[in-house]
Amino acid sequence: MTKSPRSAANNISLMLNTVLGADRFERGPVNVAELALEYTKQIEPSSHIERIVADDLPDCEGALVPGESKPRRWAIMYNRKQSAGRRAYTIAHELGHFVLHRNLVDDDPNFDGGFYCSKDAVEHGVGRNIEKEANEFAATLLMPLDDFRKFIPSDNLAGLDRLGEATERYGVSLTAATLRWLEYTKTRAIAIASVDGFALWV
Ligand SMILES: [Zn+2]
Repeated sequence: MTKSPRSAANNISLMLNTVLGADRFERGPVNVAELALEYTKQIEPSSHIERIVADDLPDCEGALVPGESKPRRWAIMYNRKQSAGRRAYTIAHELGHFVLHRNLVDDDPNFDGGFYCSKDAVEHGVGRNIEKEANEFAATLLMPLDDFRKFIPSDNLAGLDRLGEATERYGVSLTAATLRWLEYTKTRAIAIASVDGFALWV
């Protein structure tokens, strides 16, 4: 199964535009938990995601876990300590693993227990290639570029205020919204984040 993360996410966005209207972000972000349950039921009626649960996951932001019996049912787990914005991104990342990579659970012994994703994997796509792909899927699904470009045109320099409004529009963290904006802006911009005393920049 080789699908491009972007085209897989864009197909879902087109479906949501059709159902909810192209101006859907005026009314709120993607309801990604509901989407994960409903959309996977449509594409895999006998083997969909049936539960999304909060858990205490040590060293892990989220996971996509298969059931034992076949046809498999799946669960997404997310770290209960996450903020709402981080949670949406984590669920979208795990939905990306389902859409793009679920066959690996049966085809590759390394994925017998499912997909367990670190904070770096979810936020920045660090790690195996599938982590980059799930990360790209999540960013594309939650923050479609056509809408983001209308919200902050590519030649506008966005300040923290406007990026803060983007976090509300898309229901994501400031880090996620800033990284997405940096993907397309034509302005010379630099983002510096301080985490535990270390400066990270893009
Ligand atoms: Zn992952």
